[in-house]
Amino acid sequence: MPDLQRVVSEIVDEMRARTDRGEVATYISELGRVDPSLFGLVVIAEDGTVAAGGDCDLPFSIQSISKVFTLTLALGKVGDRLWRRVGKEPSGSPFNSIVQLEREQGIPRNPFINAGAMTVTDVILSGHQPREALGEILRFMQFLGQDPTITIDEAVAASEQRTGFRNRALANYMKSFGAIENSVDYVLGAYFHHCAIAMSCRQLATAGRFLAHLGRNPDTGHSVVQPERARRINALMLTCGHYDGSGEFAYRVGLPGKSGVGGGILAVAPGKASIAVWSPGLDPSGNSHLGRLALEAFTKRLGWSIFGM
Ligand code: GLN
Repeated sequence: MPDLQRVVSEIVDEMRARTDRGEVATYISELGRVDPSLFGLVVIAEDGTVAAGGDCDLPFSIQSISKVFTLTLALGKVGDRLWRRVGKEPSGSPFNSIVQLEREQGIPRNPFINAGAMTVTDVILSGHQPREALGEILRFMQFLGQDPTITIDEAVAASEQRTGFRNRALANYMKSFGAIENSVDYVLGAYFHHCAIAMSCRQLATAGRFLAHLGRNPDTGHSVVQPERARRINALMLTCGHYDGSGEFAYRVGLPGKSGVGGGILAVAPGKASIAVWSPGLDPSGNSHLGRLALEAFTKRLGWSIFGM
């Protein structure tokens, strides 16, 4: 077993010394107030060994990383019927792009771009009051993250409610194609709130463990999904998890990963570990700049890319 803690500590030191940190997201005003010098990294190996460094216990806004977990929930509800309403192909477009939706009649390319994630949220909402659906998502995160204190940052949700004009446009546009079942306001409300869940790197790495280990948490033995489903979610993370930066992420890091505009990335080393990194500054595709560099350094040092050394 490599000395994970040593590698994590080295990478945290290297990243903290860097001055190129990217730009924090400002289109959600609350995110613009986060200190860009924060940095956290947690790796949890199959045997439960935790290697942690930096600001790894500070909760941050998970934003689009929540889409991995809402996808898991929606697949649990409707199974493969979900794929009638959302595709599985990389979009090659920014996360909030509207252009493909017209051509594709309101069927979003994949569940990780905003439009696709709203379709997924719509599936979770159907048959429930928004409050119940949101409670279900939050309890799922608390269960997976093994921490009942995980909560929604209401200030972040409210600030996106105020300024999420583009998401509002996407949801309305899909509704016009009949591709959204529930009211647009309910879908947006639930979507903004699950994006505003706040978690630390430690909680997030814990929550991702089932993806690294064939659908079950190796410590608790809890089976979350069948192995085949975990494999497929990982495939989507690899091809679509970083939007139009997904190719670059696969090329440099070589692991399934999902980013969020809060600066977090959840990465999965199948059979080996669940990894969460956080650095609030983003690159032009809206993915954590130092988060990606840290993961690149990490997989390189350990030879953990799924594509080989
Ligand atoms: N809530 C954000 C949005 O809809 C999530 C985007 C992201 O993290 N990439 O814009």
